[in-house]
Amino acid sequence: MVSGRSYLVNAEINRYVYDVSVQEHPVLVKCREETQSLPNAVMQISPEQGQLFRVLLAMLGAKKTLEVGVFTGYSSTVTALALPPDGKIVACDVSDEYTSRAKRYWKEAGIAHKIDLRLGPAAETLQRLNQEDGQSSFDFAFIDADKSNYDTYYELTLPLIRPEGLIVFDNMLRRGNVLDAHSTDPDVRALRALNEKLGSDSRVLISLLAIADGVTLAWKKP
Ligand code: CA
Repeated sequence: MVSGRSYLVNAEINRYVYDVSVQEHPVLVKCREETQSLPNAVMQISPEQGQLFRVLLAMLGAKKTLEVGVFTGYSSTVTALALPPDGKIVACDVSDEYTSRAKRYWKEAGIAHKIDLRLGPAAETLQRLNQEDGQSSFDFAFIDADKSNYDTYYELTLPLIRPEGLIVFDNMLRRGNVLDAHSTDPDVRALRALNEKLGSDSRVLISLLAIADGVTLAWKKP
């Protein structure tokens, strides 16, 4: 059983996809296995998502990326390993506990120097980045934090991304709960609203991939 597997495909298919296509660094295997024992283990991205990131980052020639929601560091580690030696990730999170775990993996994988961790509310960090780093200063962003603020993160991230750069959103299908038009869950409502907004947003070209828990790619038009 591969941890963090997609609920959209059966376990055998998932295992096959993992076996034939995922090249996972030993530190990532360790991160994934150790994270399984934590109560919020489902917050970790799946290994095939990490593999997708590797392809996307290579295609973008990414050097500078943004992450909103670090958790125990799987996605930031896979990203940092894919970036060139002078690559940089600005990583936002509110949890000292989880990011302390992430820091151990960053160190062990030898990529800690590429990661600039900003502890605190991500919206404030993103506002500061808009002032300090400026527009079009990032190639790639991964948004995987509190769902009710996704749209806020999107609007603050879009100016930071360069034209032809990419924003990736996680959990856009919310284990299928987005199908419930009458849901009163604020997270489900927020994701439904964002899916509809992105579907007709002329600033980006999107693709909602039914892998893992639903991954939306939003490519910023030139
Ligand atoms: Ca997630």
